[in-house]
Amino acid sequence: MATIIDGKLVSAAVKKSVADEVNVLKEKGITPGLAVIIVGDDPASRVYVNNKKKACAEVGFYSEEYALPADTTMQELLEVIDVLNKRVDINGILCQLPLPKHLDEKAVIDYIDSKKDVDAFSPVNVGKIMIGDYDFLPCTPAGVMELLSYYNIEVEGKECVVIGRSNIVGKPMSMLLLHKNGTVTVCHSRTKNLKEVTSRADILVAAVGKAEFVTADMVKQGAVVIDVGMNRKDGKLCGDVKFDEVSEKASFITPVPGGVGPMTIGMLMKNTLKAAKLHNNIID
Ligand code: NAP
Repeated sequence: MATIIDGKLVSAAVKKSVADEVNVLKEKGITPGLAVIIVGDDPASRVYVNNKKKACAEVGFYSEEYALPADTTMQELLEVIDVLNKRVDINGILCQLPLPKHLDEKAVIDYIDSKKDVDAFSPVNVGKIMIGDYDFLPCTPAGVMELLSYYNIEVEGKECVVIGRSNIVGKPMSMLLLHKNGTVTVCHSRTKNLKEVTSRADILVAAVGKAEFVTADMVKQGAVVIDVGMNRKDGKLCGDVKFDEVSEKASFITPVPGGVGPMTIGMLMKNTLKAAKLHNNIID
């Protein structure tokens, strides 16, 4: 039976260290500020935004929410971002995705000042991640790296397989593993003989978005299995990995919920703290 990687525990540790640093900053008159924009009334987005606001309060950040109606125009949204880009008390700006269809997500992300882009989605920050010289961590993949580090799981020299190549998870995940000297293979919907590839993995990351997609026969004995998926099955939250059978074969495994999920917000807090330090010329 695998060791269960406890994302709640590690996320709490990340938030605690952010909160400790915030206390020090406050003594210098600096309070990190995060602005969160939500457009429309998607229930899942509402939950994510509420959780982010809650985490801000927990670590001692100042936070503001801009809840805009679903019919907000591109110009109206960019005007809100423009004001936030210029405000010195706001260090991080986050626009909750997905946006309503009539809005151009890429243009919106690009409009956020890259020094306040704490989601690290803008082309500038994505490019920096690519060359390994970055200020902001891509939150979900960085959360995975934090879990590996917390559990002393070495990446160097390991066969790492990432299933999924999205811009927010799969691609940056593969980069972070590569920066840690893993030998990385990225799989996607056109990958042939997927089972053969995943069975080679010492570290297998599933970011597919399909409930219980990864079964025991796709996993090497003793592999570390990281489940990024967040899916609904019979009304219940479940991951991309068939937990019951894969946990019998893996050495470490993340559960869903309680694995990668809680880490994403922790890393967002870390990025916002970093932004506040950069804006105030505080070098680590
Ligand atoms: P996405 O944009 O839909 O990407 C899914 C990826 O899986 C694509 O690259 C796709 O390949 C690949 N794929 C689909 N079917 C496949 C198959 N049969 N075999 C191999 N690869 C296949 O999803 P995402 O945004 O990366 O998110 C992935 C999952 O992570 C979702 O469940 C999402 O909810 C979850 N998530 C969790 C967090 C968190 O905080 N825990 C954060 C973000 C996302 P193609 O590129 O060829 O289409």
